[in-house]
Amino acid sequence: MDALDLPWLAQPLAQALAHARSHALLVQGPAGVGQFDLALLLAQAWLCEAAPEARPADGRACGHCGSCKLFQSRTHPDFQILLPDALREPLGWAAEEAEGKEGKESKSKPSREIKIDAVRAMLGFTQTTPARGRAKVVVVYPAEALNTVAANALLKTLEEPAGALRFALASMAPQALLPTIRSRCQPVPLGLPDAAQARDWLAARGVEQAEVLLAAAGGRPQQALDWAQDGLKAATWLALPGRLARGEVAAIADWPVPRALDTLPRLAHDLLCLAHGAAPRFCPAASLPKKPLASAVTAWSRVLQQAARHAEHPLNAGLLLESLLLQGQAALHPERNPERNVPRA
Ligand SMILES: [Zn+2]
Repeated sequence: MDALDLPWLAQPLAQALAHARSHALLVQGPAGVGQFDLALLLAQAWLCEAAPEARPADGRACGHCGSCKLFQSRTHPDFQILLPDALREPLGWAAEEAEGKEGKESKSKPSREIKIDAVRAMLGFTQTTPARGRAKVVVVYPAEALNTVAANALLKTLEEPAGALRFALASMAPQALLPTIRSRCQPVPLGLPDAAQARDWLAARGVEQAEVLLAAAGGRPQQALDWAQDGLKAATWLALPGRLARGEVAAIADWPVPRALDTLPRLAHDLLCLAHGAAPRFCPAASLPKKPLASAVTAWSRVLQQAARHAEHPLNAGLLLESLLLQGQAALHPERNPERNVPRA
């Protein structure tokens, strides 16, 4: 049996295939654990044309039949995917239709929403008979990216799908979905993978001190891998509190703003835990000051939250990072204040 790229999905996949009662499943869980991948595995399994005895016992796709080959080459005629334009390229689904849009439109920022036009095109697809006869499958990711108009357009089809039509929605924020969408889907919960399994998976992909980045990512291996591939090393993460405490601007000066806004709140979270006598979650305690000042940490958290709200268009990334760092210095190093730095006469 071929191993899955994300081994921790094997059990939830088997469960979902064995217990699917609905034609629409909603894979839900935290970001960075593979909801999208699980939705694709479900889709491939539903479309697979191999006889049950020629498939793995857990019911997943065979990986070798004509349907699986088409699915793997992303050209299956009975499969459609709904993604926001902003995710097409990062996820490797920058399709033909996107290429046709070169020119003046390519200058505008790709949308983070799934819009009504995309849903209408998908509905057209669902109304034709399957090209290969087995089923038709639509994956929607992330389902919370459906704007209200698009979600409403999807409702009826979700409730009364034509023929052998099946849906796999995946969401990191199911509470943000229209209740009417949620109620039409069977939930497939996906939790954090086993830490040892996730650590080994990261190590196999060349991540050094994988347990450090895995903890920094709150146990979400895909998030940890993204950071590692983006150049964030475990050693950098471990040294960060000390460098921020010393006011070393260079510690984060060349960081992409989204990474700073994604990671620094975790550091602030841990400092707040320590200030209140609780154990840190994202950083090893040894890398943190023993007793940070709660008021300074709270002030820093507020600054970070505010920065996150304007993250889409920071006026000046360098200035923003520097101010986040200076605020962080106070949180990490409460005893540092101007008077202390004045040499005694
Ligand atoms: Zn197959």
